[in-house]
Amino acid sequence: MPFKLTIIGSGSAVPTVNRGVTSQYVNFNERHILIDCGEGTQLQLRRFKVKFQRLKMILISHLHGDHYLGLVGLLSSMSLLGRTQKLLIICPKELEQLLNVQFEIAGIKLNFELEFKHLTAKDKTVVFEDNVIAISAFPVKHRIDCWGFYMNEQQKEKNVDPRAIKEHGLTIEEILQAKKGEDIVREAAYYRNEDITLPPEPPISYAYSADTMYFDKMAEYVKDASILYHEATFTEKQIDRAKATMHSTAKQAATVAKNANVGKLILGHFSARFRGTDEVLAEAKTVFDKVVCVEDGDEFIL
Ligand SMILES: [Zn+2]
Repeated sequence: MPFKLTIIGSGSAVPTVNRGVTSQYVNFNERHILIDCGEGTQLQLRRFKVKFQRLKMILISHLHGDHYLGLVGLLSSMSLLGRTQKLLIICPKELEQLLNVQFEIAGIKLNFELEFKHLTAKDKTVVFEDNVIAISAFPVKHRIDCWGFYMNEQQKEKNVDPRAIKEHGLTIEEILQAKKGEDIVREAAYYRNEDITLPPEPPISYAYSADTMYFDKMAEYVKDASILYHEATFTEKQIDRAKATMHSTAKQAATVAKNANVGKLILGHFSARFRGTDEVLAEAKTVFDKVVCVEDGDEFIL
């Protein structure tokens, strides 16, 4: 199970008993990541049994309250509960100021270090990378500066064809060489890499739209994602409201998914005006049918 996404909060604007505001937890090859942290996130994390001390980083898309107001509380709890491990926060630069002011006025000194990486990119840019995953941020179109995120596994090693192993009697050392893409050179034989390997599995990827109005380039940013989360705050009936608040409709989200050829579309950030999500889902399905509307606590595994 290289990838597991847990929906921590799937509503917009105001937390309610049925829906928390935006937050998602990703375990991607044991990299533990929180995306956005609306008010009430730490309680929701407890509710869905996420061990938040394991978080390695927190990504904050923008500074509307329903995406970050839970952060001070979460960080304070982490400190009170004994965290000492450094935490990376990838966020708009003003968030660092905001947090510093809050902690300074309250006289709070966290027991662990916060490392900030500011989002400034005007185009898709890598903001974190190790030997297992890479995370890029890309600018979206909202009322204030806002970024979406795209995370993917690093290129996997090639698979060595079992038939070639048997036929040529490849040694462990030769198999490891072949996995890395090298040819096998022996005194009396030469095996080209492409003849003894099979293409690796395509890397898994996850894209997060953040809050945004529709724009064509979004499909390019989230191209071929295994899963795309896209906000669908409204339906086409409220298109004027969507435009005024710079949010998307279900149909627009589905259009992005179709143009980007994603594996699966998951919709969230629903306006509290909706009683249920049937209408949102039906509208999205007219354009793209591999789609679901999320509820808090839903999990997606790849
Ligand atoms: Zn917003």
